[in-house]
Amino acid sequence: MHIESIPMWEGSGNNYAYLVTDDKTKEAVIIDPANPQEVLPTLKKAVDGGVKLRNIINTHHHHDHAGGNAEMLKSYDIPIIGGKDCEKVSKTPAHGETFTIGDGIKVKALHTPCHTQDSICYLFEDGEDRVVFTGDTLFIGGCGRFFEGTAEEMDTALNKTLGALPDDTKVYPGHEYTKGNVKFAVTVSQSEAIKKLESFVGSNKQTQGKFTIGDEKQHNVFMRLDDPTVQKYTGKTGRVDVMSKLREAKNAM
Ligand SMILES: [Zn+2]
Repeated sequence: MHIESIPMWEGSGNNYAYLVTDDKTKEAVIIDPANPQEVLPTLKKAVDGGVKLRNIINTHHHHDHAGGNAEMLKSYDIPIIGGKDCEKVSKTPAHGETFTIGDGIKVKALHTPCHTQDSICYLFEDGEDRVVFTGDTLFIGGCGRFFEGTAEEMDTALNKTLGALPDDTKVYPGHEYTKGNVKFAVTVSQSEAIKKLESFVGSNKQTQGKFTIGDEKQHNVFMRLDDPTVQKYTGKTGRVDVMSKLREAKNAM
């Protein structure tokens, strides 16, 4: 599979749309094309080069992810796969439901309610190549705010649902937020893994696809609720209490 990152609102929202193409058939999907004026030029070039766009896929209903759907349909009249509250959605896959893109890519929908109740992460597998598009649920070194859910739901989303994916699964989040996440993480723990991530963001502007679920389990404090250092920072020991305190502290930064 081929993944093209399309940065949107650089310097403010720092969102990513992703164009994912099956190598052999050139069938493709576009994930969260929320700002069509930044996405359409890249798409046109791809389509002119033989890419066949099959679906728009949304990770959740927020405007900076699904808000471009109506405008996108004017150029590409294709079905929209996403959570129930996404603009113009045509199909909401069940938790664990699979579908294919071309011959090579198998997609599995993973419901991860918390940031929004309609949040869905998508595992894409092509042979031994595995990636997960995590929207605003999991960021590199962080997680999304709990706008429509609880700390318990985020624990389930990050540590049961996404945490169960193979360690080599590469993470493609909905925003480039790693710098801010690391700034918070170092106040919680100065582990080698966190210091390594800090040094990576010091010299790399983009971090999507550069880290795996296995890496997140090491450097993402929201995936280390049983870590004594993280527990000590929060003054709590129960998983849900630790998650809740971490989120409050990050929000207050
Ligand atoms: Zn969001």
